Amino acid sequence: MIKTLHNHKDLINQVDNINNKNIFLKRVTCPVCNNIFKTQTVKINASRIASKDSDFFIRYLVENPYFYEVWLCPNCGYAALKTDFEKIRNFQINLVKENITSKWINRDYPIPFNENVAIERYKLALLTALVIQSKSSTKAMLCLKIAWMFRLLSDKINENNFLSQALIAFNDTYTNENIPIYGLDKFSLLFLIGELNRRIGEDQATLRYFSEVITSIGASQKIKEMARDGKDKIRRY
Ligand SMILES: [Zn+2]
Repeated sequence: MIKTLHNHKDLINQVDNINNKNIFLKRVTCPVCNNIFKTQTVKINASRIASKDSDFFIRYLVENPYFYEVWLCPNCGYAALKTDFEKIRNFQINLVKENITSKWINRDYPIPFNENVAIERYKLALLTALVIQSKSSTKAMLCLKIAWMFRLLSDKINENNFLSQALIAFNDTYTNENIPIYGLDKFSLLFLIGELNRRIGEDQATLRYFSEVITSIGASQKIKEMARDGKDKIRRY
């Protein structure tokens, strides 16, 4: 009886959270198995920005939209960033069915999501990306976002590990993909590669990339200024 009451209270809390904290449910159709499911999402206006880190990570005052960026089909286990969720080709659908769905056991996540839930969901999206042979830019963004979640948890070792993996994938992106990717133009990507090098202590590579941004003709003043600030951070130590 106590357990039932407790569960009931949890349910009310969940509904309250959905109402009060600007999380709402969105209906999504899975492109792999055609299952229709509901996923939590944050109202855009609700997430006021507190500050921005030098690698484009945004810190929010209220609900953290990063926690809800991965959509995960509870039926087949297909997971991807919401911007990529519907962009899956036929051979990739088969790869998900063969390699993920066959082993998939659904799990429930308490609402609201937190850093650890977000990390698990980003990692499931990364697993999908590896299985379906996604582009390097997709793997890079997922690794970067996992690193940011570890930053929120003050877990420096895991943060740097995922920043390093993001860097490898962004280098490949820069060489082999059509840019812009995920809203990053060529110079923002170049700056980001420099900044990730700085964060993992690769000073020489950092200076090389920042100098390229600063001396380029096409980069905006804002991104040039960010590269100059990044260079100053290195000189200071
Ligand atoms: Zn599905």
